[in-house]
Parts: sequence; C-alpha cells; structure tokens
Amino acid sequence: MTIKPLIILPDPVLRQLSKPVERVDNDLRKLADDMLETMYDAPGIGLAAIQVGIPLRLLVIDLAKEGEEPAPMVVVNPEIVNSSDERSTYEEGCLSIPDYYAEVERPATVRAKFLDRDGKQQEITAEGLLATCLQHEIDHLNGVLFIDHISRLKRDMVMRKFKKLAKDRPPSRLVG
Ligand SMILES: [Zn+2]
Repeated sequence: MTIKPLIILPDPVLRQLSKPVERVDNDLRKLADDMLETMYDAPGIGLAAIQVGIPLRLLVIDLAKEGEEPAPMVVVNPEIVNSSDERSTYEEGCLSIPDYYAEVERPATVRAKFLDRDGKQQEITAEGLLATCLQHEIDHLNGVLFIDHISRLKRDMVMRKFKKLAKDRPPSRLVG
C-alpha cells in the first residue's frame, strides 16, 4: 500500500466534480487501500479520492477509536436518498484544510445507498458521527468543502490563510 500526497486548499482540484466509478475491480480496491493507508497515516476518519487527486466517486471512512480494531468502510458511488429534518452540529476538520476546525450543522440522520468494496449494493441509515462524516465526504465528490457551510467571513479568513501558506510551500505535485 502507498501513502499518497494530499491535495491541500486552495488547490482548485478540490473543486472538481468527481465522476461515477464504472466498475469495482482490483484497481479500484488498490486505490481504496492506498486511500485508507493515507488516511490512517494523516490521521483522519474519512477521505475522498479527489483529496489524493483522483476525481472518482469513491471514499473511505474508519470511525474506530484509538486502540480499537480498525473498521474500514469503502464507499463507491454514494447517494443520499433521505435526510432527517433533525439536525446536529459537529466540530469538523478536513485533511485538505489542515489544522482548521469549525462547527457545522447538518442533517442528524441520512439514508445512503452505495456499492461496497466487492461492488455489492448497500443501503444504510447513518446517524451521529457517521452521518456527518458521510455527508462531509460526499460533499467532496461534488467539489464542496466544509468551509462552504460556515459564515462567509470565517471562510474568507481561512481562504486567505491557506493562499498565503501555499505561496510559502513548494508545489505538492508536478503537472507534466
Ligand atoms: Zn474533508
């Protein structure tokens, strides 16, 4: 497994719309494993393929706490089919926006359909942290970041900070 470089704000790649996965095959499973490795290394609890520069509707999640058995989830072509009116607030962060956290309000419960790592159709009702994490990651597939859900004033401040940081940082990838 390979740890892949993370795409960091304000890289415009993060705003790209990801395309549906056509086939869940060994190449896709390898990518999912690399993403899990990258996420565990960071560490984080969720990662979308676009965050390693690949515009596919694929994400990985593992909500196991430190000391618990890993519980990796591979989520392909997810779709939210129902959201609760009830909302909950979590302090969110993002591996593409390091060291920044803000409270985000989202539907407390969502029903989601997706394909698992074997290409089998799954449908789950997610609540609590899993509901928030799924919505955060599915947002990534649509080019949406959690800072889009906070006030414009706070978002502008974050954007300014990361634009400044990017200037002082060597490019994270080569475009050939
Ligand atoms: Zn994120």
